[in-house]
Amino acid sequence: MSDTARKLVIIGSGPAGWTAAIYAARAQLDPIVYVGVPKQNPSIVLPGGQLMLTTEVENYPGFPEGITGPDMMQAFQKQAERFGTKVIGEDITEVDFDKDGGVHTLKTSAGKTVKAHAVVIATGATANWLGLENEMRLAMSGGGVSACAVCDGALPMFRDQPLAVIGGGDSAMEEATYLTKFASKVYVIHRRDELRASKIMQERYMKQPNAEVLWNKQVVDVLGDEKITGVELEDTVTGEKSTLDVKGLFVAIGHTPATEFLRETGLEFDDKGYIVLKSRSSATEIPGVFAAGDVADARYRQAVTAAGMGCQAALDAEHWLGEQGRI
Ligand code: NAP
Repeated sequence: MSDTARKLVIIGSGPAGWTAAIYAARAQLDPIVYVGVPKQNPSIVLPGGQLMLTTEVENYPGFPEGITGPDMMQAFQKQAERFGTKVIGEDITEVDFDKDGGVHTLKTSAGKTVKAHAVVIATGATANWLGLENEMRLAMSGGGVSACAVCDGALPMFRDQPLAVIGGGDSAMEEATYLTKFASKVYVIHRRDELRASKIMQERYMKQPNAEVLWNKQVVDVLGDEKITGVELEDTVTGEKSTLDVKGLFVAIGHTPATEFLRETGLEFDDKGYIVLKSRSSATEIPGVFAAGDVADARYRQAVTAAGMGCQAALDAEHWLGEQGRI
């Protein structure tokens, strides 16, 4: 056992990471949370996670009037810090997990090394893109293509303009509904003839006077030099091509877990890259390494479930450290 090693390092600062920190700090595990460094489009990763990109959170129990995502994350952080959590604004870029459950070694984006007896991975997930060349080019250059309507939708360039959202899930409905407040028209472009989104989210969008769903359509190209001028569509049933003039495109086609930096560590992943947990626990394949929140949950992906998983991870880590005689 190394004296210089921390008892617990938490990677990630969404609801899972902060909840793990609250529990761990109260259990006197002296946790450090690596909150990450803000990244730019098109790969939006923020300290605070996806809730930083959410306006109103209406389904987190205890907030009958709702609360904004950023306010909620600020409150989580404050609560974690109140019990002594240390917060560091760096990414963990490399990990060397001891498969025998010894001390784990982590490297940060500032070139530092931190050692830990237990680690909670709570790095969440990031937005997916179609992968079209012009989509990426215009997303990188601020040309009107984005994966986050809540972050970018209120920009002047989108005001009173026709916009499009790609996707048929709750995210697409949420983004599209938000955009109807600013845009002249908001098209939802969906590849099938039925939405995946919950009924309430569908209805909220559909009842807006400037909403229109384009069914059975996929975007095959994004048009425009410096700014987007439109998209080329292909009908998924007939194969027919058409053009739609829009001044903004918001991609809302799901997420990918932030696990790339963990691939060679001996952890187990599912086919989408989510960490596989031992049943009904936050334990991974590696002793002393736990995971919580969206990074290990392709199914529920809610703030409240992520927070619950963060609690489990802290309790599991505390139990494990105790069993090992390390606390
Ligand atoms: P999702 O439910 O996985 O939906 C992704 C959508 O994108 C699907 O409609 C899918 O089409 C479409 N899609 C995927 N790849 C595509 C591609 N290459 N080209 C075109 N379309 C593509 O993801 P999500 O909407 O981000 O939601 C994720 C989870 O978060 C869900 O559990 C959701 O309920 C939850 N969520 C909740 C709220 C809320 O309650 N406030 C808000 C946002 C998200 P198909 O339908 O054809 O597969």
